[in-house]
Amino acid sequence: ALRVGILALQGDVREHARTLQRLGAEAAEVRRPAELEGLDALVLPGGESSVIDKLSRQFGLREPLRAAIVDGLPVYGTCAGMILLADRVEDAIAGQQTLGGLDVTVRRNAFGRQTESFETTLAVPALGPAPVTATFIRAPEVTEVGPGATVLAQLEDGRIVAVEQGSLLATAFHPEVAGEDRFHRRLLERAAARRG
Ligand code: GLN
Repeated sequence: ALRVGILALQGDVREHARTLQRLGAEAAEVRRPAELEGLDALVLPGGESSVIDKLSRQFGLREPLRAAIVDGLPVYGTCAGMILLADRVEDAIAGQQTLGGLDVTVRRNAFGRQTESFETTLAVPALGPAPVTATFIRAPEVTEVGPGATVLAQLEDGRIVAVEQGSLLATAFHPEVAGEDRFHRRLLERAAARRG
C-alpha cells in the first residue's frame, strides 16, 4: 500500500486518515523528522496555519518538510495546509512563515464573519463532471496565481479556491468533511506514478 503521512501537529488529522484508509492507503501521523522517511505522499491538514508553522519549527520539521517538497514528494494541503504551501501570504501574522512551493498568494480568513463556515458545490473539471461538495471553515482564498501554478476551481464570484503545481495540490476548503475523496485519489495517483 502507499504510505501517506499526515502532518499531525494540530488540525483535522483524523478525517484525512479515514479518507486515505478508505482508498486503500496507509495513513501515518507525522510529528518528527524521522516520520517523513519512506513516505509516498503527504497531507497538510486544516487547522491554524500560524500554529502549525510555529510547531513545525519547534519540532524541527520545517527544513525536512521543505526538503521533501523540493524533492518532489506529492503533497496535498487543505485550508491551513494550502496556506503552508503558498509562497506568499498577504496577511500573515507577525513572524508567520510558510513552507512554500506553490507560486500563489493567499489571503487568510478571506470569507468574513458571516460566512466563516459554509458548504457549497463546486465544479472541478480536472476531477470529472460531478461537482465537489466543499466545506469552507475560516478558509483562505488565492488572490494571485503565478505562472507556475494552475487553477483547479473557482467560486461563482471568481474567487480561486483550488490550485496545483507539479507534485503539489491545494484546496482552500475541506473535501474530506463531506466524504469527497477525489483530491486524495489525485494525490495517490501521483504517489503511485512517482513510485513507478
Ligand atoms: N483560518 C485558518 C488559518 O489561517 C485556516 C482554517 C482551516 O484550516 N480550516 O490557518
